[in-house]
Amino acid sequence: MRRPFYLYNTATRKKELFEPVNDPVGMYCCGPTVYNYAHIGNLRTYIFEDVLKRALVASGYHVKHVVNITDVGHLTSDADTGEDKMEKGAAREGKSVWEISEFFTRKFLENLQALNILKPDVMPRATDHIKDMIELVSELERRGFTYRTSDGIYFDTTRFPSYCDFAGLDPSSLKAGERVEMGEKRSVTDFALWKFSPSDVKRQMEWDSPWGIGFPGWHIECSAMSLALLSQPIDIHCGGVDHIRVHHTNEIAQTEAATGKKFVRFWAHGEFLVVEKGKMAKSGGNFITLDTLAGEGIPPLAYRMFCFTAHYRSPLAFGWEGIRAAANSLENLRKAVPAQDKEATFDEKQVVALLEEFYTHVCDDLNMPRAVASLWDLLHNSSVEAALKRECVRRADFVLGLDLLNVPEHHVEIVTDADGVKIKLDAETQLPDTVRSTLLSLLQKRRNARARKDFGTADRIRDGFAGLGIVVKDLPDGTTECRIPSAVVSDPDKTASLHDI
Ligand code: AMP
Ligand code: ZN
Repeated sequence: MRRPFYLYNTATRKKELFEPVNDPVGMYCCGPTVYNYAHIGNLRTYIFEDVLKRALVASGYHVKHVVNITDVGHLTSDADTGEDKMEKGAAREGKSVWEISEFFTRKFLENLQALNILKPDVMPRATDHIKDMIELVSELERRGFTYRTSDGIYFDTTRFPSYCDFAGLDPSSLKAGERVEMGEKRSVTDFALWKFSPSDVKRQMEWDSPWGIGFPGWHIECSAMSLALLSQPIDIHCGGVDHIRVHHTNEIAQTEAATGKKFVRFWAHGEFLVVEKGKMAKSGGNFITLDTLAGEGIPPLAYRMFCFTAHYRSPLAFGWEGIRAAANSLENLRKAVPAQDKEATFDEKQVVALLEEFYTHVCDDLNMPRAVASLWDLLHNSSVEAALKRECVRRADFVLGLDLLNVPEHHVEIVTDADGVKIKLDAETQLPDTVRSTLLSLLQKRRNARARKDFGTADRIRDGFAGLGIVVKDLPDGTTECRIPSAVVSDPDKTASLHDI
């Protein structure tokens, strides 16, 4: 049985009954450009997409979820000028483009796992689909939608009359010319399909093509990868709201021009995470990652919980008070779940009836604030038996992904060190002896450094801990408390970095 699911469609500006044409449902989500860590703003968008996928599965659909990895061609400016973000990132890190791509892809996958984001079914890399991109550009050329300038092959947006419709752009204002660099482009909205490698710079990533050596434009990458992996029309295409005006508008124009068919049925866009009235961006001081949160003792799933405090189509303001409140409310929610009773039985019909309200909110364009509130109501309802409550939480948690039944176990030990100072080690997992002794010696080093007013050393140790998500606090009774996330033990890279502090 399938539950009716309503989803807001950016293309029609309406909430619509979701009726897919494909089985499995084809879902394409624009993925990261792997030149830097993902910040928690990016991660808000991936959490929204994960909840959408989980909600569809819970509603009875099979879903094929594709998230691409952009490892070439995303320029620093939307106007097809500026440097390639990947080449720039490689220069910054002093590594090759391939190395940073591999490194930041791995970091991205770790972030997804930490946030309980279900692994996408396919994660194509742009560099593995260059042939598909060249074929798509060739088709556009055959159909007369392209022109050549000295730096590349461009899409002629005047040949696609509905270009402005998707984002509701005002064609007259575009003609008047926004303050963008036109170069040899014929219209402001025209965009690069293929860029030629500059003659004076040796690029690390470049390919031969019918037009000369170069690399693909960012927009053509998503069109080519989505068409290669999913059936057209694709049921759902997602991304952040910043993609509506340029990236997705261009994807629609070039794909529909090349195929003569509708590209996508539902467009779903997540609003931004904002910091002090601005967006969170990869440049500037607003760059907060999951590691930054861990350094403040905030676990990744507390951030997932925080994202449920706003609807995905509303901006969400990041603040430390708000995120701490979300961490507390996640702990309270877990504590409110009755303990398992292996003997207890429950009636399936009752479970379905009790979850009706939760699912109604989930299927109403992912109204997660209300869905979470309805789960709280259920847990507060004293007339519902414990076993029933627990089963309802287990099922609801398939959509929420908050590990509501797997409360992380804490292993607390109080150790008195050589100077007679009490150390409270509060770890999410059993500490191996080697890790325990390294931690104790670092804590002692930190205390000695402070005693001799060597704050440089003390701060270096504190920052080293923070980078690994270890939180150290000096309690009023003289005890030093040290909270250790499980990743420090389970991730060999993190365990090894303890020795570098
Ligand atoms: P990028 O790696 O910059 O291509 O961005 C990856 C995803 O994050 C895209 O879907 C963006 O739309 C989205 N995004 C970028 N900044 C934010 C933000 N501050 N809040 C929410 N989503 C964002
Ligand atoms: Zn894309």
